[in-house]
Amino acid sequence: MKLHFYGGARWVTGANYLLETKQTKILVDCGLFQGGRDARKMNQKEFPYDPSKIEAVLVTHAHIDHIGRLPYLVKKGFKGKIFATKPTKDFARAMLFDAEEINYEINKTTGKESFYNKSDVEKTLGLFQGIDYGEKMKLNDNISFCFRDAGHVLGSAIIEVWAEKQKIVFSGDLGNPPVPILKPTEFIKEADYVLVESTYGDRIHEDKKQRKDLLEDAVENTITRGGTLLIPSFALERTQEILYELNELVENHRIPHVPIFLDSPLAIKLTEIYRKYPEYFNQEAFSLIKSGDKLFEFPGFKMTRTVAESKQISQVNPPKIIIAGSGMSTGGRIMHHEIKYLSDSKNTFLIICYQVPGTLGRKILDGAEKVKIFRQEIPNKIQIRAIGGYSAHADQKALCYWVRQMKDSLKKVFIVQGEEKPAMTLSSHIKDHLGLPTEVPKTGQIFEL
Ligand SMILES: [Zn+2]
Repeated sequence: MKLHFYGGARWVTGANYLLETKQTKILVDCGLFQGGRDARKMNQKEFPYDPSKIEAVLVTHAHIDHIGRLPYLVKKGFKGKIFATKPTKDFARAMLFDAEEINYEINKTTGKESFYNKSDVEKTLGLFQGIDYGEKMKLNDNISFCFRDAGHVLGSAIIEVWAEKQKIVFSGDLGNPPVPILKPTEFIKEADYVLVESTYGDRIHEDKKQRKDLLEDAVENTITRGGTLLIPSFALERTQEILYELNELVENHRIPHVPIFLDSPLAIKLTEIYRKYPEYFNQEAFSLIKSGDKLFEFPGFKMTRTVAESKQISQVNPPKIIIAGSGMSTGGRIMHHEIKYLSDSKNTFLIICYQVPGTLGRKILDGAEKVKIFRQEIPNKIQIRAIGGYSAHADQKALCYWVRQMKDSLKKVFIVQGEEKPAMTLSSHIKDHLGLPTEVPKTGQIFEL
């Protein structure tokens, strides 16, 4: 059998792996490449295989760098089934339509045609089949698979695949437990081959225990100054984790009641989906719900869906808290709030997401004197705070520990979904500490298993 790497190879994004047995071909993930102009070109390229010959796609989770090219795959002839957990299936609808809209807006300005449209998205969603964790599925006489909890975002999965008497494990993205809401990452006890992510393959995370106190402090400090607390946030998972923490802080009277706005149509849609799946939550969050607490409903909290409601936020007197996307200030409603609030030192800019160099969020974080937003120069005088403890990815220690559980049976470890440096660092670390053979595949590389 052969394993092909067509994305997520020496790159964080674009996850796309093809498993080829004598009888069939399946894919694991079909994600969008992100970051820069190169990514846009790669997304629009033809697939290096015939999509009509693929029997099924197994999807690890709903982040766009894992599902974003599925509509393009369908447009190019894929007619098989797409397997995902039930929350992932629901999130995919919101995420893919949102991505299509962003793409459409970008292409409108450049006059180019989008590489897929709404009807491709609708066709794609029709192919999804939602399954539960731990359910062993038989695709055909040749291939079986099972989804396990990855603890990265709600519904995220590690996928075990059995084919031709061998077992391959695809890590997807692995979480950074303990986190609010989610269950911890599951360990897999044995496999012949594993593909492990390496986003933070060269990093050890800062302590997580402090993060809630730091959040409380940022809120209190802004309230004392009578300012506005701006929190740019990723729509899936990070936003719901922050809401969970704010819910607790408000209900335990650790922070005063102030207006708290969730100003992101995508994050609002995703939050509604969270409400449907309490059985996927960890024990603490599940017990809270059982005791009658509505996690995403608490005094002062308001979701602003429409543009008119969003504009109303500026009429509300401070102190107040605004959570909006995008997480790196590269688009979305957060930019309108930045125009309004960046120039006043009474306000606070709270970073809870990783900021890629070159993004507006990173420039603000790094203390640029002025920033340009929608052709306006805005003085950057806002107070800046950052909490690193909310990372959604396992660090080097956790990745290595996760691989270690399969150590005795592993023939090879493939390091994926990381930039070259973290991937190579994790590779040497696993070789040195676990004594296992590793590969850091390049795009297009094929391995015989
Ligand atoms: Zn992810």
